[in-house]
Amino acid sequence: MPIGVLALQGDVREHIHLLTELGSTAVEVRTVEQLATCDALVIPGGESTTISKLLVNFGMLEPVKEFVSSKPVLGTCAGLILLSKEVVGRLPDQQLIGGLPITVQRNAYGGQTHSFEAEVDFSGVSETVAFIRAPKIVDVQGCEVIATLGGEPVAIRYGILFGATFHPELTGAKELHRQFLSAVESV
Ligand code: GLN
Repeated sequence: MPIGVLALQGDVREHIHLLTELGSTAVEVRTVEQLATCDALVIPGGESTTISKLLVNFGMLEPVKEFVSSKPVLGTCAGLILLSKEVVGRLPDQQLIGGLPITVQRNAYGGQTHSFEAEVDFSGVSETVAFIRAPKIVDVQGCEVIATLGGEPVAIRYGILFGATFHPELTGAKELHRQFLSAVESV
């Protein structure tokens, strides 16, 4: 079965391109029916408050929560925010999907003008990625840290759930998706 990429907002095509380059079949997911055809899900970046509203409007919030409880899921940037247990700077009407026992702080590097590219370290493999109005992981709880920037965690893994504060798809960095796909294959 394919890897779904939640296509309510965000860099959907870029994620599909990365997954395809790594040899997977990837499809856009906008409906519960499409979600049901997938083995795993990527939740791209964008704006987490907007994505949460769209999840509610499309009747996808509960189905995605259920999916996260048993299938591999990768959230990047806003996707990571939505998968987090606690969000510092969350707007009152922002719903969370949850699943990752972490605390993140939204817009922790500042606003749009504080977006930047940087080399992150995946235990010896370094890759250039983009941070766009990125959150910071302020409490990793029991998660495995899989990438750091200046010693701080920027990507984590909790069983079959993965999250990163950055956008790998905008620079074509493959390591995060590679690790995710290897978790998908081992399920
Ligand atoms: N700052 C955005 C939010 O809070 C996330 C930015 C992104 O996904 N690039 O949702």
